[in-house]
Amino acid sequence: MKTCDVCGNETFRREVTDEFFRVGAETVLIERVPTQVCERCGEATFDRETVEKVRRLVHEHSQPAHRVEVEAFAFS
Ligand SMILES: [Zn+2]
Repeated sequence: MKTCDVCGNETFRREVTDEFFRVGAETVLIERVPTQVCERCGEATFDRETVEKVRRLVHEHSQPAHRVEVEAFAFS
């Protein structure tokens, strides 16, 4: 049974979200990623297969759907 890394809860709801992934030196935005969100604390987790697919998408240099510009701020 899958449990939440943060609070140990065992119930999740499935959502689709846009998420940034850092792959090597690149940060990419993956849109419409399936995720499981903890119903207690809201922590989002990804299936291993989902993370693998993200890696493949980036490493195989698939043509991005489009480019987005982001500004990065260091918190400290
Ligand atoms: Zn949780």
